[in-house]
Amino acid sequence: MAGAVTRRIGLFGGTFDPVHRAHVALAQAALQALALDEVRWVPTGQPWQKARSITPAGHREAMLKLALAGEPRFVLDRIELVREGPSYTLDTVRALQAARPGASWFLLIGADQYAGLHTWHGWRELLDRVVLAVAARPGVAAAPQLEVLAHAHRVVPLPPMAVSATDIRSRVAAGLPVGDLVPPAVATYIDQHALYRAGTQPGAPSPSTRS
Ligand code: ATP
Repeated sequence: MAGAVTRRIGLFGGTFDPVHRAHVALAQAALQALALDEVRWVPTGQPWQKARSITPAGHREAMLKLALAGEPRFVLDRIELVREGPSYTLDTVRALQAARPGASWFLLIGADQYAGLHTWHGWRELLDRVVLAVAARPGVAAAPQLEVLAHAHRVVPLPPMAVSATDIRSRVAAGLPVGDLVPPAVATYIDQHALYRAGTQPGAPSPSTRS
């Protein structure tokens, strides 16, 4: 159709337990470098590759809302929170593409995920459906599998950021500050809801904290 402009959409999935500064920086760098119209943040419902028990979805979602506020091109997508069973990225991509025909899709991932992409459910179909947009991540030595490497990918220009959610959870459990590692409102939320403290299992947030 004359004059129609293809919408460019970034898809950024993760456990986000909690969302941290490197996540936000990665998404912002992708917005700029790939000229995206939006980044859809997709928190995992039931991550099929993580063995540890994860924080209830309501808390992870509430922290994401706080981190995403102020950037209208950031969109929180609950698709994997409402779907039953394991969270396969391929199922998410199929559903989102069916709902928005004609858009261009970029899958945003860190180098650690890139190196393990050949273990993902249906990864060959996934590679045919999206353009990978990969950010460097300090400490990642593994290279992607050759067939993954053969697919063109874009680079997200993120300066190395040695931040991980694992480290943040450990620091909170040890009573150390995390204010430099997460957005300020997320640090406050972690504190107010006593998340990640040693020996505690948080319940789901009360409805008033989820709006
Ligand atoms: P955890 O430590 O619990 O495994 P994480 O910090 O890796 O968590 P995830 O929610 O699992 O965070 O990651 C979501 C996405 O963000 C993944 O594609 C991951 O590679 C990427 N990512 C996370 N942290 C960084 C970082 N410091 N630099 C580059 N990419 C990152």
